[in-house]
Amino acid sequence: MWTWIRSRVWELLRPSELCSRVFLGLAVFCCLGGGWGVAEEQVERGQPNVLLDSAGNVLSVPQKVILLNPKIDNHHISSRTEGVVRDYLVANPDLKEVKVRLNQGALFGDIKSLVKNKKVEWYWRIFPGIPVTIYSSLTGRLLGGDHYNPFTNTVHLYSDDPAVALHELGHAKDFERNTSKGLYAVGRILPPVALSQEHAATDHAVDYLKQNKDEAGELKAYNTLYPAYGTYLGSYSGVPYGNVVGAGVGHVAGAWKRHEQKVGYEVMKNAKVVGEPVIELDSVGQSLVRNDRETQELLYGAFNNKNNVEIVTNRDKE
Ligand SMILES: [Zn+2]
Repeated sequence: MWTWIRSRVWELLRPSELCSRVFLGLAVFCCLGGGWGVAEEQVERGQPNVLLDSAGNVLSVPQKVILLNPKIDNHHISSRTEGVVRDYLVANPDLKEVKVRLNQGALFGDIKSLVKNKKVEWYWRIFPGIPVTIYSSLTGRLLGGDHYNPFTNTVHLYSDDPAVALHELGHAKDFERNTSKGLYAVGRILPPVALSQEHAATDHAVDYLKQNKDEAGELKAYNTLYPAYGTYLGSYSGVPYGNVVGAGVGHVAGAWKRHEQKVGYEVMKNAKVVGEPVIELDSVGQSLVRNDRETQELLYGAFNNKNNVEIVTNRDKE
C-alpha cells in the first residue's frame, strides 16, 4: 500500500506532471479571473487580482527597463487609457467587430471569438489560430505582452500607455484594410512582413494623435513606439542582445523625432502675420496671409514634408 501511495505522490510531483498541473491551475484561475460569464461588450476589463497583477508587474521589469517606461505590462489600465481606446473605436467604426480586453484573461471568450471571426479563413484559425490563441490567453495575464490577435480579432492590453494601446489598435486597423487576413497574419514569421506591420501600426497611432491635435500624446508616443520598433529591428539583426541594442537606437531616434516635431509645433505657434504675406510655401507657389489654425496646419504640414518653406515671424520683422 505504502509503495503504491509513494509512487502516486512521486508521479504527481514529477516536474513534467507538476508543470502541466500548475499550467492547468493557472488556466482555470485566469479564465475565472476575468471575463467568464460577463456580458459581451466590445471593451472588457479583467478583475483586478493583487497577486497575479503584482507578479506580472515584477516579471515585466526587463521590458520596462528596455523601453524606459514603468507603465509597460503594469497590469493596471487606467480609465484614461481606456478612454483613449473607446474614443479610437468611436472614431473608427470599421473596427466595430474588434474586441479589446484590458488586462483580462478569458480563454473561453477568446475561443468564442476565434470561432466567430469569419474574417480569417477557417484553416488559418485552426492552425496557427488555436495554439496561438490558447497560449496568449493563458499566459497574458501573468506574462503580459500587449498584442493584437488577428485570429480572434482581439486587442489584448496589459500596459497603461495610450500610445501602446493606439499601436495595438493600429494593428487591428492595418488588418482590417487587408483582404487576405489569414495569410497576412502568418506572413509575420518573415521579418520584413513583421517589420512592415509594426511600422504600419505605429504610423496609424501617430497619425491618429496628429489628427486629434494631441501634441503632448504624440510627442510622448515617440519615446515608447520608436524604441519598441527598435527591439524588433534589433532582434532580427542577429546581433547579440539585438533587442536591447535596437531599443537603444530607437530611443535616440525617438528623441530626435520628438525634438523635430516639437520645434515644428513651436514654429507653427509663433508664426505671426504682420500685414503682408509672412509665410511662403514656394513648392506650391502659395502665399498665406492668415494666422489661423488652418494656416498653421499648412505651415506645419510643409515643415513635416521638408518643403521649401520660408517663414518670417514677428520677431524677424521687428
Ligand atoms: Zn506591434
